[in-house]
Amino acid sequence: MDLHYSDEDLAFRDQVRAFLDSHLPPDLQDKVRKHLRLSKDDYVRWHKILAAKGWVAPAWPVEYGGPGWTPVQRHLFEEECALAGAPPIMPFGVNMVAPVIMAFGSQAQKEYYLPRILSCEDWWCQGYSEPGAGSDLASLKTTAVREGEHYVVNGQKTWTTLAQHADMIFCLVRTDPGVRKQEGISFLLIDMHAPGVTVRPIIMLDEDHEVNEVFFDNVRVPVANLVGQENKGWTYAKYLLGHERTGIAAVGRSRRELAFVKRLAMREQRNGRPLLEDPLFGARVAAVEIELMALEMTVLRVLSRPDHAPGPEASVLKVKGTEVQQALTELMLDAAGPMAFPFDPAYLEGEREHSIAGDDDAAPLAPYYFNYRKTSIYGGSNEIQRNIITQMILGL
Ligand SMILES: Cc1cc2nc3c(=O)[nH]c(=O)nc-3n(C[C@H](O)[C@H](O)[C@H](O)COP(=O)(O)OP(=O)(O)OC[C@H]3O[C@@H](n4cnc5c(N)ncnc54)[C@H](O)[C@@H]3O)c2cc1C
Repeated sequence: MDLHYSDEDLAFRDQVRAFLDSHLPPDLQDKVRKHLRLSKDDYVRWHKILAAKGWVAPAWPVEYGGPGWTPVQRHLFEEECALAGAPPIMPFGVNMVAPVIMAFGSQAQKEYYLPRILSCEDWWCQGYSEPGAGSDLASLKTTAVREGEHYVVNGQKTWTTLAQHADMIFCLVRTDPGVRKQEGISFLLIDMHAPGVTVRPIIMLDEDHEVNEVFFDNVRVPVANLVGQENKGWTYAKYLLGHERTGIAAVGRSRRELAFVKRLAMREQRNGRPLLEDPLFGARVAAVEIELMALEMTVLRVLSRPDHAPGPEASVLKVKGTEVQQALTELMLDAAGPMAFPFDPAYLEGEREHSIAGDDDAAPLAPYYFNYRKTSIYGGSNEIQRNIITQMILGL
């Protein structure tokens, strides 16, 4: 494996940088860099700018509207976007349901949904988890009973990220209760505006509305919205999870946050010197930086595999990626110290230009730290990822 970028890759990176210089709206960049909350409109605006350039779905094949980049170019693009402070592209449509529709969906589903995902006409959310089915996902109880040309869906999903904005949800539902639990699950695409769908917010500790409960009460879903075959949904669900976990590694974003930590720790003083020069704090920063470099190499190794399909190594990227992210948020909080404690939601929402606490860098860091505890849970908890690694990679 050659760890150096080729001249073509470097030229590509320059091209991406030039595009970001001219097209990334400064107000969005400012919000991302300051760790402020992004609105639906912020996400959609950036999605549409990338879509107009043909760059919103780097991993898609050209025939469906992808740019035809190599895996290394995709990595460079994601890294440059994150370093520049671009909002992330919501993964539920582009990176999660789209690959499943491409691989297992009907021709009609491909023709209808994929262009709408590219243009952001539909905001998607993920209906996997239920109150009794998180890590043990196959225990899910939401039922879909066939009645003529419809399924009638009843049940509840939970932790559904940003479902309050969603037009569509991809859902795992039980279509056969009488077989081994993995064999009676189907993958349905459900219109969130259909009668019988209710979204109830779960408001978090930091007063943010990020997750929801979603209830289905006799929701009628056309049979045409079944992906692939009935009762084969577990296979499609696992295929989707491989894509989800690879995306969680987020090396570019962590590189941006590492630079932020260093900047903050150069500004903060300890014993009359910059905190970054404190041997204990500096050693912690160095340890995370080394982990991040190792993670980036691992991402590149996975990308350089001939088939590029995310397999169980996606679990390694998920565990390491989230450990680095959580370590960085810890360092930020420690560097900011008591300045991070005042809670100022109006500043986080961008309603006030400066924080009441008097330190704009520090003000969002406590909510940010607490929010990032989620990363080792969502996408399949890290304990479960370690089980996958021991079984599927180490063969134990
Ligand atoms: C912020 C956030 C957003 C989310 N967004 C979505 C979403 O949009 N859509 C969606 O469908 N889901 C979403 N989830 C749900 C997420 O995928 C689940 O929370 C996750 O899979 C863990 O399931 P659980 O919460 O039921 O925990 P449990 O399964 O009850 O696990 C509790 C603890 O026990 C451990 N544990 C359980 N079983 C084992 C085992 N066999 N071996 C070792 N340890 C074990 C777990 O690792 C965990 O630490 C989100 C979660 C969060 C926190």
